Amino acid sequence: MVNDYKENNITLPLIALRGIWIFPHMVIHFDVGREKSVKALEEAMLNDSKILLSSQKDFKVEDPKIDDIYDMGTIAVIKQTLKLPNGSTRVLVEGVDRARITSLEEKDGYLLADAIEYTYDFEEIEVEDKTKAAIRLVLDDVKEYINYSPQIAQEVMLGLMDIEDPGRLADVIASYLQLKLSDHYVILEELNFYSRLEKLHMILGEEIELLKIEEKINRKVKKQLDKVQREYYLKEQLNVIKSELGESDLDDDVMEEYMKKIESKKLPKYAEEAARKELKRMGQMSPASPEINVSRTYLDYLLDLPWAKTTKDKIELKDSREILNRDHYGLKQVKERVLEYLAILKRTKSMSGPILCLVGPPGVGKTSIAKSIAESMQRKFVSMRLGGVRDEAEIRGHRKTYIAAMPGRIITLMTKAGTLNPVFLLDEIDKVSSDFRGDPASALLEVLDPEQNDEFTDHFLEVPFDLSKVMFVTTANSTSTIPPALLDRMEVIRVSGYTSEEKFEIAKRHLIPKNLKTHGLAEDEFEISQAALEQLIQNYTRESGVRELERMIARVIRKSVRRMVEEGVDRTKITVQNLSKYAGKARYRDDILEDNPMVGVVTGLAWTEVGGEILQIEVNTMPGTGKVQLTGQLGDIMKESAMAGFSYIRSNAEKLGIKDKDFFKDKDIHIHIPEGAIPKDGPSAGISMTTAMVSALTGRKVMNSVAMTGEITLRGRVLPIGGVKEKLLAASRYNIKTVLLPETNKKDIDEIPEKVLKNMKLHYVNDINDVLDIALEPIENA
Ligand code: ADP
Repeated sequence: MVNDYKENNITLPLIALRGIWIFPHMVIHFDVGREKSVKALEEAMLNDSKILLSSQKDFKVEDPKIDDIYDMGTIAVIKQTLKLPNGSTRVLVEGVDRARITSLEEKDGYLLADAIEYTYDFEEIEVEDKTKAAIRLVLDDVKEYINYSPQIAQEVMLGLMDIEDPGRLADVIASYLQLKLSDHYVILEELNFYSRLEKLHMILGEEIELLKIEEKINRKVKKQLDKVQREYYLKEQLNVIKSELGESDLDDDVMEEYMKKIESKKLPKYAEEAARKELKRMGQMSPASPEINVSRTYLDYLLDLPWAKTTKDKIELKDSREILNRDHYGLKQVKERVLEYLAILKRTKSMSGPILCLVGPPGVGKTSIAKSIAESMQRKFVSMRLGGVRDEAEIRGHRKTYIAAMPGRIITLMTKAGTLNPVFLLDEIDKVSSDFRGDPASALLEVLDPEQNDEFTDHFLEVPFDLSKVMFVTTANSTSTIPPALLDRMEVIRVSGYTSEEKFEIAKRHLIPKNLKTHGLAEDEFEISQAALEQLIQNYTRESGVRELERMIARVIRKSVRRMVEEGVDRTKITVQNLSKYAGKARYRDDILEDNPMVGVVTGLAWTEVGGEILQIEVNTMPGTGKVQLTGQLGDIMKESAMAGFSYIRSNAEKLGIKDKDFFKDKDIHIHIPEGAIPKDGPSAGISMTTAMVSALTGRKVMNSVAMTGEITLRGRVLPIGGVKEKLLAASRYNIKTVLLPETNKKDIDEIPEKVLKNMKLHYVNDINDVLDIALEPIENA
């Protein structure tokens, strides 16, 4: 191992890059035209969007084999793809890690590489002194290089100084330099940080020397040429370049075609002017200039945007109801709320009202409801995922001066929609984050603000585009991370998780028929027994929505198709007996909570963004000095809530039966909530933590078939909590039979499906003593 790298064997589709390179952490665009590369791209998009990129040694080779590409490449994540009008695909990727290619084969028309991925965690690496010295040396080089090289902005230097990871620093610097491919390879191939910096230092030294000489020559030449001579010289140079490239002046036909397009499209005046100006500029460019492509992309976008095209709205509540019902089982309240929203829209005939925001765990049908809305209004539908969008440019585009600039996704999706008034879904609006690349949330605010969005300006397009007729619909897992200014503008409709029975119906009526169709099976060729489907729901998935379930169903159907083809049978019947052959091993057991009372262990119910969950809370006491320690990455509110519970216990120790009167002086209490994907904060574990502490201090066992949720006050009162439905659905998924809820949450019970309540005993509690009476074993047994 070099530099504490971890090595993983991976297999990924590969694209051979021509004349460009990519380092980890670098974001680049490139255009993909070759069939094999397009296929590789498609394959990657089907699996995690990861792709292996390696440069060709000779860019002229059309069909590269393993010897034609460099053996060190970069694993990259595909962030965005875009079909260009010329038939190729523009891809935006971000480099992740280095990978050494060990073999390359052709599979289904694309290149598939086996490689060793090198990853490391910088936090775990100690930087040696000699490496620190090399960092300084290289930064000095960069300073000098920038002085001679006006293409690189001075601010770059500031950015570099913040990078602590020496390996990453070397990569970022190398990505800024205009180097020969082989020099880039030298840097990419070097795994050792110190050696990488050393090599970079040498390369930079040579480059700086060259730049110095270049500058000297330039100065000399400038002096010698007076203006006339200079122009003559430049023109001659241009002619030489053109004849070298075998090109003549920019094709008149192309210009003509654009001109015709400008005239035939109904552009607003300002857009038409911008188009004409760009076309004029393009006419003056040398055909060899790389800017021509920028101009063409610009004109293509400008002319393809639906400046004046709209679809005619139809809002007939009867039809909308029919479509919502046709595509969705259950969701009664949600459908009613959506219909009310549409009714108001019909009355006001304006899109400037509040924006619909569907909030709920993944896989409960939020996206699918938005699609049905679009269909029922006869509008086009487009959607943009905002999860992980950190760069404002993804929304609003890059300025034309930026290399490989493109419009942002709002504009590209409007082009895709082809009309001015689609239903535009902004998915996961609660997951937008901001960093040094600008603030996407404020760009979104502009997109959604009816006062401003009739003049939305994309950085690339530069001319305003009208978004005021678009019907924006948003989705989120939770409203808590939506910026308040955005949330203010929204009408929130909550979509909650499903009971097992609802999942069963959804699977039977929608997911199975839908997946049979996509896999080319007729309904009578496939059957799954009721018990097998129930097992798929209970033992293969444990989620609020039905996303995982749909994946399992697709898997079972795929396997069936394969078996039918291989064995020549024409029907498949899935039963409990053969289920595991099709779906793999079950992931969950039925009753994971056996009734096994223990001291200091309590089952709590939590609300999370992905639905309800159960939490195991553990408390230990030990000789000490009265400290209360909390572990398991708990948030501040949760810690305060534990302290409130502890105070209550201290002031009521005798009543609670704690024999050691000085426990708060001579014992330490340790509260732990084991890891798991559950973010742990909020006050609702108050009574669970208190119960676990009382159990640990008195030695009374907790009935762990009981689950509970509720906030506690200093005086032991139990206060209401949120997320009751999701929490009870989770309890029901885990087969919990007794649940303690705050009395004040009684009102929330109306929305709980009867099936859930039927199998569960609910106790409403006002005070922690009510909780302890039910949850702890009676005193005489203790
Ligand atoms: P979300 O956007 O909430 O994450 P999706 O809309 O992507 O969820 O739903 C996941 C899948 O489950 C889709 O195929 C969707 O059609 C299906 N689905 C979810 N809820 C229902 C329902 N109530 N009836 C029918 N199908 C549903």
